[in-house]
Amino acid sequence: MEVRQLPFSQYSDSHLINRFIITGTEPAFANALRRIILAEVPTIAIEEVIIIENTLPLFDEYIAHRLGLIPLNSDIDDLNMIDECENCDGAGCSQCTIGLGLTRESGQDATETIYSSDLEASDPRVYAASDTIPIMKMGKGQRLILEAIARFGTGKEHAKFQPVSSVGYQYMPIIEIRPGTKFTKEVADACPREILEFDDKNSSINLSNPLKCNLCMECVVAAEKDSIIVREDKNQIIFLVESNGSLPVENIVIKAADILHGKAEDFIESLHTASEEYETDPKLRSKIISFERIAIQKEDEN
Ligand code: SF4
Ligand SMILES: [Zn+2]
Repeated sequence: MEVRQLPFSQYSDSHLINRFIITGTEPAFANALRRIILAEVPTIAIEEVIIIENTLPLFDEYIAHRLGLIPLNSDIDDLNMIDECENCDGAGCSQCTIGLGLTRESGQDATETIYSSDLEASDPRVYAASDTIPIMKMGKGQRLILEAIARFGTGKEHAKFQPVSSVGYQYMPIIEIRPGTKFTKEVADACPREILEFDDKNSSINLSNPLKCNLCMECVVAAEKDSIIVREDKNQIIFLVESNGSLPVENIVIKAADILHGKAEDFIESLHTASEEYETDPKLRSKIISFERIAIQKEDEN
């Protein structure tokens, strides 16, 4: 397996987006990585909100829900997962939770907006990934005072813990243009990714940046039969990860690969244990053999 980094500037100047090509792999591997990124890479999010004063015309639950969805910087190694915290057995303590506070009061003459930057954490390493996420608008002379508790969690528990705003992959596109074919400008214009460049001198089409192709097949439909062929190479996968700011994008992929590696090691260990038990426990062996017989019998009946 080989990994090639695509230039960041090719798709976006944002440091939160990363695209790379995995060669010599299977879609199943890319899908496992994608699913682990979504469900198992932990991030910090607000879990509990204690409203001390709320004179806004909004329910406390609504405010708490919005706070929970704010991505918080989670690039911290020394905060325990709450359910694995030996210090408190999951009750919540300073080794597995972070306290945050928010106090805002609008003036008598002006409406104001509460932003994510108004949240103040007890640990300076925890802060909103973006300062400008609007939490809510305040009318004149309104007040909001609250405390919140944040902790690590994973996407399989709640989507607010997902480290990405998007993650996905596609097969490597292979675009072949039949040499000598005369094209019309409409064919080039059919491409939503502007990959096909029309050369009106020769009525030909040139490719610019085929890696941007999303395999939509619009050009194939617009062109004369077999003059453009678009195929996918399933052994080469273009992987896209867009962090929501809670973790650097490279860390997300590395953590997911570590988790996948850990799962493979657990599986190998369980397999060894199972085969040792099979060898040494005659009762278990006869049980498995009778299960196998039942399965074969059922298959024969069907
Ligand atoms: S398949 Fe779609 S994106 Fe790719 S070149 Fe054709 S029209 Fe453009
Ligand atoms: Zn704890």
